[in-house]
Amino acid sequence: MSRITLAIHGGAGTILKSTMSPSIELSYREGLQAALDNGYNILAKGGSSIEAVKSAVMVLEDNELFNAGKGSVFTNEGAHEMDASIMEGNSLKAGAVGIVKYVRNPIELALHVMLHTEHVFLGGEGALQFAQQQGLAIENNDYFFSQFRFDQWQNVKNSETFQLDHSPFSTKEKKIGTVGAVACDQFGNLAAATSTGGMTNKKFGRMGDTSVIGSGTYANNATCAISCTGHGELFLRAVAAYDVSALMEYKGYSLNEAMEEVVNKKLVFMEGEGGMIGVDAKGNASMIFNSEGMYRGCRNSEGTNEVQIYR
Ligand code: ASP
Repeated sequence: MSRITLAIHGGAGTILKSTMSPSIELSYREGLQAALDNGYNILAKGGSSIEAVKSAVMVLEDNELFNAGKGSVFTNEGAHEMDASIMEGNSLKAGAVGIVKYVRNPIELALHVMLHTEHVFLGGEGALQFAQQQGLAIENNDYFFSQFRFDQWQNVKNSETFQLDHSPFSTKEKKIGTVGAVACDQFGNLAAATSTGGMTNKKFGRMGDTSVIGSGTYANNATCAISCTGHGELFLRAVAAYDVSALMEYKGYSLNEAMEEVVNKKLVFMEGEGGMIGVDAKGNASMIFNSEGMYRGCRNSEGTNEVQIYR
């Protein structure tokens, strides 16, 4: 039996203790711990890594503090367009959705694409129709509303600016928002899941890395499971998640070495701010970022159970 491990993230960016109010910090910590416990308990009961990552991400999607599901940022038209993807490391099967409106839990929809279609990636109206056909929870636009993200949007909605998610406590601070989870179950099977509302004021059907298998999400039992958060355009161009796997597969890097190379060398060189979480088939986990902070947590069967925010 493998060591079981779950790691999660809730976005990265300029997250400084000096400007975080104690009550907001507590809310973030509680939100992260709830998601961590939810996914870990599935693994501890013998559940699969794919179930664990889906379930942990759903808890974060349902929490309006995080930019995914409820609390997703506003597009230029005042809508919420969400992206999500999920991948299983033993079968290399994957499911992804992009520019999805009204679906309460886009990660659940991505899993349904993986399990119940011949396809990997569904987008827009068609993805919504598929969600309805599958009987998934659909909400109206108001469900996704959050006051602080509405205020962020008001600041930029008449400009050409696309904004990465900003934290609620100071408009000067940049918090890149997206949620994700990676897991290794007792059989050494890996899985990764990532979900986001994307960037404030985005238009023209903009999508980042989150729904793109290989960029924002990747899982392969031979190497690792990775979930990213950061400036999507750069993570797309870096093919960030798969690059970690390739360094492990072709160059024999450890998980930690490969993640360091991609996050702190390649992405820094490209000016791609953000981070990623990863786990390998022995249950080793890493959480690496090149920004000021990253909401993150890790729990394993050797007693690690931690939630962290700052560097
Ligand atoms: N990577 C995501 C995107 O670019 C969002 C983020 O992590 O801020 O859409």
